[in-house]
Amino acid sequence: MKNIDWHLHTTASDGSFTPEQLVVKAAEKGLTSIAVTDHDTVEGILPARNKARSLPLEVIPGIELTAYIDQLEVHILGYFIDYLDNQLLLKLSELREMRRQRGKKIVKKLNQLGIDLTWQEVKELTDANQAIGRPHIAQALQQGGYVQTAQQAFDKYLEDQGPAYVPKTNLTPREAIEMIKQVKGIAVLAHPGLLADQSVVPELIEAGIEGLEVYYSKHNSNQISKYVRLAKDKELLILGGSDCHGLSNQEQLLLGNTKVPDWLRDRLQEGYRARRGIEMIDFNKYLALYPQTSGLYPQKLAAIGQKYHQQGYLTKEQLYQLAYLNSTRSAYHVKKNAGYLVKKVTQEVYQLEEEFLQLELLSSLSGVGIPTASAILTSLDEESHCVIDTRVWATLWRMGYFEQEKESFKASDYLRIIDIVRRLAEEVDLTVAEIGYALFAYDVEHREGTLH
Ligand SMILES: [Zn+2]
Ligand SMILES: [Zn+2]
Repeated sequence: MKNIDWHLHTTASDGSFTPEQLVVKAAEKGLTSIAVTDHDTVEGILPARNKARSLPLEVIPGIELTAYIDQLEVHILGYFIDYLDNQLLLKLSELREMRRQRGKKIVKKLNQLGIDLTWQEVKELTDANQAIGRPHIAQALQQGGYVQTAQQAFDKYLEDQGPAYVPKTNLTPREAIEMIKQVKGIAVLAHPGLLADQSVVPELIEAGIEGLEVYYSKHNSNQISKYVRLAKDKELLILGGSDCHGLSNQEQLLLGNTKVPDWLRDRLQEGYRARRGIEMIDFNKYLALYPQTSGLYPQKLAAIGQKYHQQGYLTKEQLYQLAYLNSTRSAYHVKKNAGYLVKKVTQEVYQLEEEFLQLELLSSLSGVGIPTASAILTSLDEESHCVIDTRVWATLWRMGYFEQEKESFKASDYLRIIDIVRRLAEEVDLTVAEIGYALFAYDVEHREGTLH
């Protein structure tokens, strides 16, 4: 009962814990499955998932989008979203920009009303990542001595139809749901019990909601039974979480305090796969096939991988070794990447010690000939290392994780593959390396001869 919390905020939005702190606290509390669901941003997911790699805890990538039906604020949660998707990142930054512009317009109106408030003063009240909204402007007005309380700021200036009101340019629930579905996520109605107008719930389900946040820190037992019934009736997934924002607002720490039944974890997983058309492959079967493929040699890789993990990065020598292993096994790579180029690029990229910086640089060098042609060795935990390449992508694409077939990758593509491989390893009882081998072998069997 106490192992799940699928509604958590970090400093990426308005929580008080950094993503890393949140993960550590969650593990200390004995939680085994959490979701990072920051408001309108995905910035906290990667750091949280990286931190969780060394802990017995899964971090489901999530988001909480703010939408409106007229004046009614509706929160839509998204789970298992592809948080590295460029379109999603673009859309989120556009939304932030739109809110920023709105804030600026409000400040301008206040100036016209004779209030000497600057945009800078409002900005100073928010963290860099946070969306600036009316509450921040209210706070600035209060600090400037223009009003006594934030409520007064709303009553006097900021409320809808108030003299400094600027209409919102926000998402409708349908748009928010669409955004989540675009990146393969499951769209869930957050805390339905908090909606002042319950008549919108059927409307939201109609708009494409796939799950309800039934178990919630502020739902009472009547609300819980009501929404369990509704979810069953409408065949929606059941989710739950505390909505913990950390230790702000003098609240008690909500983390892990909502009683979410543990068996919902498997339901969510199955429901996710069914709704997104994801088909699992027989990992054990293909793992057994791997030694018969042209894939990289497990023993040699294991030796490289172990050293890699100890150091946290590959030395140049190890990388040459990997590049050599990878390019010699395939005429395709040799043709595409002359030896000296592989060496030169490898040298540059792997002077960086940090995995993600390496990936970033790789992406900017694409076209030159990526060091190991198309493969990256990544060390994912103490024993596991995994080769990520086109075959791995191709299988994930066939399984339904990606929309597109691809032959060349950017850094974000590698990260997306690594992320899904890690998730699969969490779901089935295999290491990430084994998942990688199985995905590779599957593609060899199904697509032999078309690529290397
Ligand atoms: Zn909410
Ligand atoms: Zn929330």
